[in-house]
Amino acid sequence: MSLDYNSLLLAVGFSAACLSLTLFGIWLTARSEKFLLTWAVSVLLVVADVFTYKAYIDAPGRMLGLATFALLLLGFSTMLGAAHQFTSGRSPLPRIALGAGISLATTLPPIALGYDGLGFMLENSFAALLLFATAYEYWKGRAESPVPIIGVAALYSATAVSFVLCAMVLALDGKLILGHAPSNWAEDLSLVTVIACMTGIGALSLALNQGRLAQHHRRNALTDALTGLLNRRALFDLHGGTPVGAFTAVVVFDLDGFKVINDEFGHATGDEVLKLFAEDLAANLRPTDVAVRMGGEEFALVLKRTLPETVEFTAERIRTAFAARRIETETRPLSCTVSAGYAFGSKEGMSFDKVLSAADKALYAAKRGGRNRVTAASAFRRAG
Ligand code: GH3
Ligand code: MG
Ligand code: MG
Repeated sequence: MSLDYNSLLLAVGFSAACLSLTLFGIWLTARSEKFLLTWAVSVLLVVADVFTYKAYIDAPGRMLGLATFALLLLGFSTMLGAAHQFTSGRSPLPRIALGAGISLATTLPPIALGYDGLGFMLENSFAALLLFATAYEYWKGRAESPVPIIGVAALYSATAVSFVLCAMVLALDGKLILGHAPSNWAEDLSLVTVIACMTGIGALSLALNQGRLAQHHRRNALTDALTGLLNRRALFDLHGGTPVGAFTAVVVFDLDGFKVINDEFGHATGDEVLKLFAEDLAANLRPTDVAVRMGGEEFALVLKRTLPETVEFTAERIRTAFAARRIETETRPLSCTVSAGYAFGSKEGMSFDKVLSAADKALYAAKRGGRNRVTAASAFRRAG
């Protein structure tokens, strides 16, 4: 053999052990990422398999043969489960049970009966199938982050192909009984492929997970926790820097007499009222409209490609829907109203702050005018 197979095998074992430890470590700091644990376990099973296989090469026997088949196929089934868990967020167990169940039921009997050659053909074939299935799990989830996910899928596929080659060389050889571990060019190639791909898969998957966490934090930073609407920061991220055109409107809403509701019914009920208003807001939007909670009992809408009639109509619909609510509380049902003001940008483009403050002024006009109404900024108020 031109390659020193044994030392390469040990290299795989030790680097996989390090990967597994790394995964355990990361999981310990981010327990919500459960797929990391599943993946760490799958790699650990492969590590155990590598050392068992090493022992089998030195002293081929049925017990060691059974153990190495079982560990490898269980390890790859668990890897498949981890991939499914990563992309779908669902339990890895059905995939693990199915993968391990079918592959072990097919592969263990031949080696138990002494047909180790047949056993290795089947073991390599099932290893390839499980790796292709793992690649497919990632492929299905590629929308999240196409380049690294397709990369991971390609690396799993390359590893799978190397196992296909191992199976093919054994099949062409046609020996049902070998009496020793297979040793041929495909085995050497497969080991090198595993080393190369494992490194790539480890780095890419961790980067993927990191990217997902960063996305999660970013989303949290832009979301209002109580209502699930975007928050003030998100509004300024989206619109703060761009001039507002003549067909874009900003509507600001402020619940009427909200302090009294808090005082009489308590803060928790106040929070419920805020959530219900957010529902009314969200229920009356087009997909391109943006709704935010500015803070406290103040909300805003940005409506694009719109006309004063449409803005008036939308704001009125939200106002009447909210005013019509009878909100059950522990003491007695309550109802609440909302006032709104709106303003448009200009043909030349107006700063977002300016439009917002014009809408705010209109809101205060609505408050002064008796509340529970929608008022346009002075420039858009209809004559009469
Ligand atoms: P107006 O009709 O003039 O708008 O009167 P108002 O009582 O609604 O206005 P004011 O600004 O005096 O009171 C707003 C209240 O909103 C005071 C504050 O305690 C309450 N508030 C602010 N944020 C929250 C929140 O997150 N939850 C609850 N329950 N109350 C909040
Ligand atoms: Mg207010
Ligand atoms: Mg208010």
